[in-house]
Amino acid sequence: MSGPGGRRLIRRRPTAPSAVTWIAKTLERAGFETWAVGGAVRDVLLGVDSVDWDLATRARPEQVRRVFRRTVPVGIEHGTVGVLARGSEMYEVTTFRRDVETHGRHATVEFADGIDDDLARRDFTINAVAWRPLSGEFHDPFHGVRDLERGLLRTVGEAGERFAEDYLRVLRALRFAGRFELTIDPATWHALCAATGRLGLLSPERIREELLKILGLDPRPSRALSLYAASGALEALAPELGGLVGASMARALPVDEWTYALMVTDTLPARRPLVRLGALLQGIGARPAAELLVRLRFSNAQADWVAAVARAGAAPPDADAPPAELRRWLARAGAPLLRDLARIWCAHERVGRTLAASRRVDAAASWRSLRRELAAGPPLSIGDLAVGGDDLIGMGLEPGPRFGRILDELLERVLDDPGLNRRETLLEFAAELAAGPPPLC
Ligand code: ATP
Ligand code: MG
Repeated sequence: MSGPGGRRLIRRRPTAPSAVTWIAKTLERAGFETWAVGGAVRDVLLGVDSVDWDLATRARPEQVRRVFRRTVPVGIEHGTVGVLARGSEMYEVTTFRRDVETHGRHATVEFADGIDDDLARRDFTINAVAWRPLSGEFHDPFHGVRDLERGLLRTVGEAGERFAEDYLRVLRALRFAGRFELTIDPATWHALCAATGRLGLLSPERIREELLKILGLDPRPSRALSLYAASGALEALAPELGGLVGASMARALPVDEWTYALMVTDTLPARRPLVRLGALLQGIGARPAAELLVRLRFSNAQADWVAAVARAGAAPPDADAPPAELRRWLARAGAPLLRDLARIWCAHERVGRTLAASRRVDAAASWRSLRRELAAGPPLSIGDLAVGGDDLIGMGLEPGPRFGRILDELLERVLDDPGLNRRETLLEFAAELAAGPPPLC
């Protein structure tokens, strides 16, 4: 039982895209009762724009395919046919279904005769409201509209059973409660907390998608993520992050590390979910962040990117730092990361201001200094050097660790003074370095 709750305004005269109304009415004319169901109905009731319209119908898949000229068999075995509207957008039309058997991850379903069965298998009352485009009537046997109005999230049916049927519902509950500012009904909350111990049964991909939906759709992900922490889901899925809860901040800020990370995440826009994820995970360090993401089946590129963000740290180099220091910073952090890092620094700066932190970050000034340095196009990596491995081989050096150390040293000198990045100069240096005594270690 959490979240702010409170009464809210419900739009009882939903408007659907004309294609949705056309599909529904075409099916009705052919004799098949058809309803809009699921998230889109919930969203229009709340006045939120929805693109993801689902229709449920009495027609069997083969009948749907006969009624429309252009269809796609997107999931015939589940009863779903994609119908292409005039603009070629596709809407999914699914035959009424009911669960025969469900166990934790998968459900066996069969076609049902009526909308009631179809609604009974849905997870929460707010997702189990049907709206009939033909007549404009609602069918709401579980009182989802009332719950929306009161700001209440409740399972359809007995909560413990419904979570045990599919543990993803635990995460969906936290996401919906956060995004729509709903209070979780006490019985649902109690069962939800008890079910968090089984979240390990979920496939990592489904967990990843849930996390990305929170970060990519919710203007304030801190609400859903706080519920993750309060329910035990965070500890079950990402104990590394759980470790931030209650941990005190190094800079003596009046909040714990977890709260601080949430505040920074909230400050970043939903259209950049990965930047938000980078900011959220910064506090646990580069390596644990990458490991967590690999575990959740993010791509290697995404895991590397987030690790690089974590490694680069929460604060920019000082705007007045000497140019060589700025170039070293750019070489280490990677110039392509700069823009996203600057977004994260600005978020830290804003949070710092909110918390009246004594040491402030001037992200904009550092960003300007780094951009100025970058604009000169300085060499920042071994690949940018005016000499390469071939040149060293040409000098008679053998590829090996020594070789790498010489290139590293050349880069160091060039980072200090980009003017040195000329072939003859670097070849001279390389010859000196090659002749010198081998390093001690
Ligand atoms: P969003 O698209 O924002 O995730 P949604 O409610 O539209 O929200 P979908 O995954 O698109 O979620 O599912 C559409 C509908 O299907 C839901 O509204 C719900 O009625 C039903 N549903 C989806 N997933 C489940 C589930 N795991 N258990 C029961 N019903 C579900
Ligand atoms: Mg949806």
